Amino acid sequence: MTLNNQQTPSSLITIFGATGDLAKRKLYPSLYHLFTKGKISKHFAVIGIGRREWSNETFQEHVRTSVHNAIGSNENIEEFVSHFYYQAHDVSSDESYRELKTLSDQLDEQYQLEGNRIFYLAMAPEFFGTITEQLKKQGVTDAKGFQRLVIEKPFGHDLPSAEALNKQIRESFSEDQIYRIDHYLGKEMVQNIEVIRFANAMFEPLWNNRYISNIQVTSSEELGVEDRGRYYEKSGALRDMVQNHLIQMVALLAMEPPIKLTTDEIRSEKVRVLRSLRPIEGEEVKDYFVRGQYGPGKMHEQAVPGYREADNVDDESNTETFVAGKLMIDNFRWAGVPFYIRTGKRMETKSTKIVVQFKDIPMNLYYNPGKPLAPNLLVIHIQPEEGITLHLNVKKTGQDIETTPVKLNFASHDLDGINTPEAYEKLLHDCLRGDATNFTLWDEVKLSWAFVDKISEIWESTQQEDFPNYPAGSMGPKAADELLDKDGFNWWPIGKLDVE
Ligand code: NAP
Repeated sequence: MTLNNQQTPSSLITIFGATGDLAKRKLYPSLYHLFTKGKISKHFAVIGIGRREWSNETFQEHVRTSVHNAIGSNENIEEFVSHFYYQAHDVSSDESYRELKTLSDQLDEQYQLEGNRIFYLAMAPEFFGTITEQLKKQGVTDAKGFQRLVIEKPFGHDLPSAEALNKQIRESFSEDQIYRIDHYLGKEMVQNIEVIRFANAMFEPLWNNRYISNIQVTSSEELGVEDRGRYYEKSGALRDMVQNHLIQMVALLAMEPPIKLTTDEIRSEKVRVLRSLRPIEGEEVKDYFVRGQYGPGKMHEQAVPGYREADNVDDESNTETFVAGKLMIDNFRWAGVPFYIRTGKRMETKSTKIVVQFKDIPMNLYYNPGKPLAPNLLVIHIQPEEGITLHLNVKKTGQDIETTPVKLNFASHDLDGINTPEAYEKLLHDCLRGDATNFTLWDEVKLSWAFVDKISEIWESTQQEDFPNYPAGSMGPKAADELLDKDGFNWWPIGKLDVE
């Protein structure tokens, strides 16, 4: 069932991990926004689940504080928090689920929820299988309305573990009931990729290997590993960022126009891109991928320690905090066009941008002493700023026919006049409406793990002797520049591409 934008379905939302960081920072503020915008039905209730023994009042106070800290607004907050209930719960105990069923049925009647239930798993992935199994076994999903499961990343650690997890979950929920979160897909400008491509006559005809020379996707963070050392040591940037967010953006950039804007059509076009990804394995890994790890350095003039000095990180850690790679999509449209991706922690600037570089025109007729004509670029700014910039050449004012590059800018706040909604707000709304387009299908997860596993196999079996190989506050190791240099390209300097 898919509801249109105006309709707001009734629903019970059960959040596993309700006392955790994600719920506090993202889920409660997003639900509150939906509530104040009238995008969530008045017929809703939330059950928060955690281990600690909280009362409903303590939980409501926690939600109130989270909303206040995130948004600073309190309008109708009392009415909002009155919909929140708490259950102390041990995820492996049968009894806990029986209590959950009783509370769910009771709230269903009290709020007229029509048996519609969303289960949001904001917990460590090792619990996903147990929770879904128990929800079904103890009858919590036996209600007359829709039953949907929202799952946070990471979905597995590699292909075999993702397959095992999927098999376990599928025993209780069908594929169309599963909403795998990749919060990048909820970002305004990521969703805009399709519109820019398919709603503009000037781009789609050029969107291929005849006119595009390369595409660069950068997602850089200023933060280091912070207190997530235990998780990150086993994950690294390849699993944490490339397997999901970066590959998803590449799929949206490279997919064929869908015949219709339906979930199935869009997802199947993305799957076709992932099937065309050239596998990189064995000896080739070093030719296509570069890994980095940050050492001590300076961020905004402040000295910061290296990755190996963080808590729960090995002194000789072989974990990458930076990845640069060249992806090739072996199909008619993209043969020969490199998609360069790059992501890392403790980089010079926090930014996610896509740069589409068009091929040079056949000859330069203009007088540009010592300078080649600048290539046309289309820059899609994903975060923190949102917008697009088109780099063109125009005539320099004056007598000579000399050219100068200019930028045509569009910042999304110019159009909307307000901040665009948080990714989580959009994704929660999509899930309530039954629109799974911006969630990851199992086939996509499977194909991207299969691609990434070949690279991690090599990296895990060989110690990178030069780690740490980039200082905090830089744009990564030198080898990442050489990766493009050998193809005759360079990374477009992120700071100089900003919307002005
Ligand atoms: P977190 O702060 O460590 O919270 C974990 C939650 O799980 C707490 O509410 C905890 O409740 C509950 N919990 C742990 N063991 C439990 C058990 N045996 N029974 C019942 N509840 C239990 O974790 P988080 O940062 O919110 O992350 C949650 C999930 O989201 C993870 O999969 C993470 O990878 C993913 N994620 C997080 C973020 C983020 O920004 N934080 C971003 C993307 C994805 P008690 O403490 O009360 O026991």
